[in-house]
Amino acid sequence: MYIFDAHSDIWMKSVEERRLGDMDYFMDTHFPKLQEGKISGGIFVVYTRTDKKVDSVRYLWREIGGVMGEIRALRKKDAPIDFVKSYREIETAIEAGHFFAIMGIEGLSGIEGDIEQINTLYDLGFRHASLTWNEENHLAAGAAIEDGSKGVTALGEKAIKLMDDLGMIFDVSHLNERSFWEVTEIWKKPMIASHSNSKAILPHRRNITDEQAKAISKSGGVIGVNACGEFLHKNKPHINCYLDNIEHFVNVAGLEAVGIGFDFCDFLRSGSLGSDEKISKGVEGLEDVRTGGAVLEGLKSRGFSGTDIEKIAHGNFLRVIREIIY
Ligand SMILES: [Zn+2]
Repeated sequence: MYIFDAHSDIWMKSVEERRLGDMDYFMDTHFPKLQEGKISGGIFVVYTRTDKKVDSVRYLWREIGGVMGEIRALRKKDAPIDFVKSYREIETAIEAGHFFAIMGIEGLSGIEGDIEQINTLYDLGFRHASLTWNEENHLAAGAAIEDGSKGVTALGEKAIKLMDDLGMIFDVSHLNERSFWEVTEIWKKPMIASHSNSKAILPHRRNITDEQAKAISKSGGVIGVNACGEFLHKNKPHINCYLDNIEHFVNVAGLEAVGIGFDFCDFLRSGSLGSDEKISKGVEGLEDVRTGGAVLEGLKSRGFSGTDIEKIAHGNFLRVIREIIY
């Protein structure tokens, strides 16, 4: 049984280490940890910084440059990891016993509303994107924007339609509620919330309501439950809170709509993020990527059957990926 992790910031760390001179950081450090955590595939995102200290356009393209260098180096070494652009390539990777990663973009602030750049991202191999991180940008309003009049912009609508045309995975994590509901009017394929927890369990601006969870399910999509402590419990995040979120979404949105999107913070450089996701509050029993298997064990002890666990661990996300990028 393996896990598909729908949200991983792994590049942030490995690209930085490469710049500092450690050319083997990914294979020496990340890869064994992923294997220990029973993770065999996932969405690896390039994150767009949006704080005022940084030029988000420069930041985005610099990170992409770093990632492209990393991918080329891994290919040269024949590393057992495939950067996949379709479901068929995932099948090939699984057959070969390789790890597989879909390239994604967390927040499109770095294109500054120049939506034709989504074509470029697609041609570089990116098959996933979300419109925003927590900020408001040219395309939509993110989770930090509580002004109910701010949602998806006209450009944002064009971006969504372009992603639909190209065949990209659309991620609603990080949107504010108004943007979310406007997206549901535009995007007619299954949508994913790659790393979002339940607002009914913990009222945090990054968590989603039961109505949102049901809408994702209705689209045929999947919610990846997030292991970042801040979104799990106010004071004492524990793996049980993580399992509670899975159970809650299964009850509210159905078994077919739940998956895993760990968002492990040990990949982040200190100070690399603005607010919410800055601090990894140690989640007891789910401290880092190596503990991924504990979720599978936890689900088993809560009475989930083998087939149910398989759907949550990877089956549901792969179903959506197959539908969107066959
Ligand atoms: Zn995030």
